[in-house]
Amino acid sequence: MRIGLGYDMHAFQQGRALVLGGVTIPSESGLAGHSDADVLVHALMDALLGAMRSGDIGEHFPDTDPAFAGVSSLDLLAHVAELMMREGWKLIDADTVLVMESPKVAPFRAEMRANIACRLGVDVDRIGVKATTTEGLDATGRGEGAAAHAVVLLDRA
Ligand code: MG
Repeated sequence: MRIGLGYDMHAFQQGRALVLGGVTIPSESGLAGHSDADVLVHALMDALLGAMRSGDIGEHFPDTDPAFAGVSSLDLLAHVAELMMREGWKLIDADTVLVMESPKVAPFRAEMRANIACRLGVDVDRIGVKATTTEGLDATGRGEGAAAHAVVLLDRA
């Protein structure tokens, strides 16, 4: 078995769509980034790649490559799932935490879990998505951005 840990953070930017776990959430601003800046899926992909000892998302999906401009991070997650299958790994469990002051994402959590589980080809029960705030502290607390943490457990398929 292998464990993997992932972390990511993106700044808020006016006029961008807020996409988290593949769900577009009503918001005045979204996250800045080369792709759709889905910070939750980015942290999860880094955790999966970490467990596979297969580099990181910067290496697999460089933000200097125009092919990844505006791309859906769920599509990138499907690539990671394919790589897992090719290399003989299966996902046992994944848990994530989204760190963000607002908006509240609880109403969208089930859809995020379903999106992620679907792309990874696992039961939704294996995907955890939680959200927290930092009580006004740090950059996320000041509403400057959103961060995400992810841990995964893989086993040989
Ligand atoms: Mg990122």
